[in-house]
This record gives sequence, structure tokens and C-alpha cells, in this order.
Amino acid sequence: MKIIMLGAPGAGKGTQAKRIADKCGIPHISTGDIFRANIKNGTELGAKAKSYMDKGALVPDELVCDLVVDRIQQKDCENGYILDGFPRTIPQAEALEAALNAIGQKVDFAIDIEVPDDNIINRMAGRRACVGCGATYHILFNPTKVENVCDVCGEKLILRDDDKPETVKSRLTVYHDQTQPLIDFYTERKVLAEVDGTQSMDKVFSDILEIIGA
Ligand code: ADP
Ligand code: ADP
Ligand code: ZN
Repeated sequence: MKIIMLGAPGAGKGTQAKRIADKCGIPHISTGDIFRANIKNGTELGAKAKSYMDKGALVPDELVCDLVVDRIQQKDCENGYILDGFPRTIPQAEALEAALNAIGQKVDFAIDIEVPDDNIINRMAGRRACVGCGATYHILFNPTKVENVCDVCGEKLILRDDDKPETVKSRLTVYHDQTQPLIDFYTERKVLAEVDGTQSMDKVFSDILEIIGA
């Protein structure tokens, strides 16, 4: 099963993608996580990506597309995968479609998690990310057992630089301009499904399971 998660920054794509990945036993591929790992490891790709991410802009398509197309051809993707944060532009969606067409495959579900912008601004201020494993929490809606300590790996939590309100506003503008057009793109391909992302995490998850028939 090949699933794409769509939705604004902070809509809950990562939260849900991890749960679906665990439930279905397929890899969760987050381009944001890949870039953050590259930044942490001091790679050339990381340095390039960081200059865009810090501004709340998108990393250029040419730095993203090949990376994802290579990743989905790895052995662990044989039975499917969940793409979280990719595609984010029409050219990225076209690159993915071309790569899949070449091997006679297609995306099964594009799940759009809908959350209004006002809601997002509040949500992001409370998001905390683990510096060790990248797990995400929320100070009110999904707190850790011990304050500021990751439940999974025990490392400390941070507020991502790009989750500060000024940057979130830029990211929302970029989302409406460049990523929202993908909703029409996947509607035309008859794989789009919408979920109300203002519901509880558990309800959003059960709605998604119903859509994908898992
Ligand atoms: P969120 O989950 O909050 O939407 P991500 O972790 O997916 O954020 O992405 C963080 C940043 O990484 C984005 O603002 C963007 O700069 C960059 N990025 C991630 N995925 C892509 C992509 N597919 N295309 C371009 N830039 C990307
Ligand atoms: P995305 O990957 O789309 O950027 P995340 O999954 O990281 O979004 O979620 C953004 C923030 O909102 C996180 O702090 C997360 O814990 C929280 N969150 C996710 N889903 C919900 C929900 N249904 N209700 C309230 N908070 C949520
Ligand atoms: Zn952790």
C-alpha cells in the first residue's frame, strides 16, 4: 500500500503516519526528518536544506525528488510506504508519478488532513520534537511522561526553530501557494480522501484506518 499524507504544517501528518506505519508494518518516510538528520550529521545536503528550512521556505525540488525516488526503491519499500511531507509541489508529484509509472505502480491513497490556519498556529507553539529520535509531542495534547524527556529514547525535547510563530506563518503561505494544488492533482487521480484533523488523534487515526481499509 502506497500512501501520501497531505495537509498543512502541523496538521498531524507525522503523528498519524507513524501510527499507520506501525499498524501496517510499512516504512514511514518523512522528508523533513531526512533533512533534519542530514543537518545533524553535517552533510552537504543538510547545509543546503537548512538555509531554506530556517526561512520557512521549501527546499528546491531538485534536492528532494531524486532522494525520495531512490528511497522508495529500497528493499523495505517492497510492500508499500507512507510518504509524509512529500510531494509538496506539483513538480514533485509529477516526479513521483513518473517514477511509479515506469514500474507500473501508482499511489493508492492521498490522505488530506484538514486543519484551519488559526488552529495550526496554536498547535505549533506547543509542538516539541526529540533531538535524539525525532519523535513529536505536544505540551497539552500529547505530553511526555516526564516533562521534556522523550518517552521513546530519553533524549531532551526542543521547540523546532521553524515552529516559532513568524516562521509558521511563512510556512502556511507556502503551503497554500505550492502544496494545496496537490489536492486537485490527487482528486483528478481519484485517490484523494479528506479527514477532519481537528478531531482527537485517536479519532483521526480511526478515520484513516477506515479509508485505507486496515
Ligand atoms: P511539517 O511536518 O511541520 O510540515 P516537515 O518536517 O515536513 O514539517 O518539513 C520541515 C521543512 O523541511 C519544510 O518547511 C521544508 O523547508 C523542508 N521540506 C520537507 N519536505 C520537503 C519537500 N518535499 N519539499 C521541499 N521542502 C521540504
Ligand atoms: P505535521 O507532521 O503535519 O507537521 P505533527 O504530527 O507533527 O504535524 O503534529 C503537529 C503538532 O500537533 C504536534 O505537537 C502533535 O503532537 C499535535 N497534534 C497532532 N495531531 C493532533 C490532534 N488531532 N489534536 C491535537 N494535537 C495534535
Ligand atoms: Zn526520542
